Amino acid sequence: MPLLEVQDLRIELPTRRGTLAAVDGVSFAIEPGKVLGVVGESGAGKSLTGTAVIGLLEPPLRIAGGRILFDGRRIDNLPYEQMRRIRGREIGAIFQDPLTSLNPLYTVGRQLTETILTHTEMTPTQARRRAVELLGEVGIPSPEQRVDAYPHQFSGGMRQRVVIALALCVNPRLVIADEPTTALDVSIQAQIIALLKRLCREHGTAVMLVTHDMGVIAETADDVAVMYAGRIAEIGPVRDVVKNPGHPYTAGLMASIPAIGGPRDRLRQIDGSMPRLFEIPQGCAFHPRCPHAFARCTAERPEALPTGRTLAACWLHDTPEAVDA
Ligand code: SF4
Repeated sequence: MPLLEVQDLRIELPTRRGTLAAVDGVSFAIEPGKVLGVVGESGAGKSLTGTAVIGLLEPPLRIAGGRILFDGRRIDNLPYEQMRRIRGREIGAIFQDPLTSLNPLYTVGRQLTETILTHTEMTPTQARRRAVELLGEVGIPSPEQRVDAYPHQFSGGMRQRVVIALALCVNPRLVIADEPTTALDVSIQAQIIALLKRLCREHGTAVMLVTHDMGVIAETADDVAVMYAGRIAEIGPVRDVVKNPGHPYTAGLMASIPAIGGPRDRLRQIDGSMPRLFEIPQGCAFHPRCPHAFARCTAERPEALPTGRTLAACWLHDTPEAVDA
């Protein structure tokens, strides 16, 4: 049974020009111990979806439709206090900038032990021992000494490890990681990704990994949801999406990852840019950029259609008209 289920989620943003749908009709599920990568350009709605799951959408953004179920229980309509408890205990968060999650005035040990004490029955001594253990687990050298250091005394990569320790210190069942490696050097990125993967495997934690980087997804995720203009363009097992993309947008994203060991040709780019919220075109939002667009694409919005092992919101997978296109 999935640990997290998002069903037909709609997030709206009321503006002077009218109400805009920042996320529309988004559905996916994550099983325990699995990583779902959510990928897309900036503004595609991927971070908003993650923020809605942890109940931290900032007004005027609001959930206007759909449901979010955690372990079979609806969490999108819980009172703030109840959601705060779930967020502390069962759902952890890792954001791009470690400094937003760490208090510069406290040692990392204090931050870890306080979180552990708030959410578990441990004594202060046990909590401190657990903090040291966790720092070791995420690869901080000499954790017994480093536990008393302040965030600024760590490098960027080490700080992100501390944030991962902080997100994991109460053994959450789900972790939302939003661009956790974007601010880091490529070699450190690989280490952090390997760490997330290992922790997820060993602890059975489900991970929703939000990133703009298809390369990170290909390395880490079991399944991937490709988002475009607030909707899911394609979703399926990462291998299938990478090897045999069913949506022209996914195909474009894949073409922008250099193949390992392959020729270093100029990367193929997708022409144009993603529309802004108030300019989303009718029909398929991707049609102005799509090399395969045909008449139906400008008029009707495609629903998710089966394509081999993935689902793609693309009319190419529907009608005989598409074959002629
Ligand atoms: Fe391209 Fe049409 Fe498919 Fe949209 S529905 S991705 S425009 S072929």
